[in-house]
Amino acid sequence: MKVDAIQNGIVIDHITAGRGMRLYELLGLKELDVPVALMMNAASHKMGRKDIIKIDADIDVDLDVIGYVDPGATVNFIRSGELCEKRNIEMPKMLTNVIRCRNPRCITSVEQELDHVFKLTDPEQRIYRCIYCETQAK
Ligand code: ZN
Repeated sequence: MKVDAIQNGIVIDHITAGRGMRLYELLGLKELDVPVALMMNAASHKMGRKDIIKIDADIDVDLDVIGYVDPGATVNFIRSGELCEKRNIEMPKMLTNVIRCRNPRCITSVEQELDHVFKLTDPEQRIYRCIYCETQAK
């Protein structure tokens, strides 16, 4: 895979340096059998340092996950080697089955089939809380 020349795929750019790995994990890219490049601490005029994820495959990525990990990221959709769409990301109001509640007494630890749902309770501080027990997501 030539990192700079993606034909059809997705480039997640302007990721805050240090968050790329978490995003990579939460997007489930490790499990997907597609070429992915994770660049950490790339030079950026705007940010000093940034992380970048390049996915050389036409897959669906969960924009909510990106918005949760790093709402400052931009997502570029590449078709036939050209940038065809650029999207700014917003923090999702709700997050379903992306992260798990850490509270051992939460009903989600007992009822395995329950969805793990978190709600954005403080957009400025980027705080999400479990809708069942209100435990704050890390
Ligand atoms: Zn909970």
